[in-house]
Amino acid sequence: MKCPMCGKEYTEPIQRCECGEPVEFELFHGEPYIAKSVWERFYDFWPVEPNLELSLGEGDTPLIRSRLGKELGVKLYLKNETANPTWSFKDRGTFLAMSYAVKVGYKAVGTVSTGNMAASVAAYAARAGLKAKILVSGSASDEKLKAVSIYGADVIRVMGDYGRLYFESLELGEELGIYFMNSDNPFRVEGYKSIAFEIAEELTPDYVLIPTSSGGLFRGIAKGFLELFASGLIDKIPTLIAVQAEGCSPICRAFSEGKGRIERFETPRTIAHAIENPYPPSGNVVLKLLRELGGKCVTVSDEEILEAQKRLAEEGFFVQPSSATGIAALKKLNIPEEAKVVSILTGSGLKTISQIEGRSVRECELEKLEGCLKSDS
Ligand SMILES: *Cc1c(COP(=O)(O)O)cnc(C)c1O
Ligand SMILES: [Zn+2]
Repeated sequence: MKCPMCGKEYTEPIQRCECGEPVEFELFHGEPYIAKSVWERFYDFWPVEPNLELSLGEGDTPLIRSRLGKELGVKLYLKNETANPTWSFKDRGTFLAMSYAVKVGYKAVGTVSTGNMAASVAAYAARAGLKAKILVSGSASDEKLKAVSIYGADVIRVMGDYGRLYFESLELGEELGIYFMNSDNPFRVEGYKSIAFEIAEELTPDYVLIPTSSGGLFRGIAKGFLELFASGLIDKIPTLIAVQAEGCSPICRAFSEGKGRIERFETPRTIAHAIENPYPPSGNVVLKLLRELGGKCVTVSDEEILEAQKRLAEEGFFVQPSSATGIAALKKLNIPEEAKVVSILTGSGLKTISQIEGRSVRECELEKLEGCLKSDS
């Protein structure tokens, strides 16, 4: 393993470098053997044996051409991650991290999250027969926590600084024998590479839009394309676009100000809670990747996010606000005509039902049904 910031190398799969940054597995550049599920087709690219007995069928999600591209003059494809076992891309990373935890003999795993990652870790822990310790913030809603506790996880509300919890959990986890697979855990990042692999099997995109919070997803997709390139399987790396909510955009702010490091985003406020991390643990690495790969960082307002969520639903895709940010960003970017664009629909709208402004429902007497059906409202 190697630190992407300072370059220090490690032989054990630790989680953070001495310099404080995340460490990651070195770039794979061998000759790959390719077969069945994405874990088998890209077998050589994983630093841990994927344990298919722990699989819930994550990955191999649909990539679908969208009508919305027409008005924007681009060829738009949606990578529908809501089709994963717990309805978000987090399952890809959880599966690989769980494969590692089981392999080295952990009896308990954990994570720090309130939403998608919590449900994902709880589900895969149940599948693997391990205990799950899920640490959530004091403000986490009961509705979301039910979707976690159903899997039998031990859900713990932690009062105090939520930002510190990430580091605190890694330390205590090591002491207590609990493997914490947080947002940018190195195996998690490896699992997210599978999104790039699946996209590349179907087409060669010019742009990929990535909703970005901790930076784990962005790093995974970037690393996936870098490895395909290094292995000679693709001859071009797409332009990667990190998308953040205006009300919580520490990475985009540092990027536009030309800074090398992110700073904490004070008083974050957005409807897109799944990407509301004011101090992303992989923020500095994402900044570095954006610069090295010629990427872009775009922010979108809550209004634009809700509009994009509605537009996607009008085509049959029900995503959560965080997952609509890519489409919201598309309008603000100057993407050349006919470019092939992939937007990652990161998670399902069913997770955030209470945020939907309900469409009006009509009432109709059975006797008047014919009239009701003939009119549209
Ligand atoms: C976790 C998550 C993201 C952001 O991923 P990071 O790895 O934290 O950058 C985006 N959208 C949804 C729905 C998520 O659950
Ligand atoms: Zn380092």
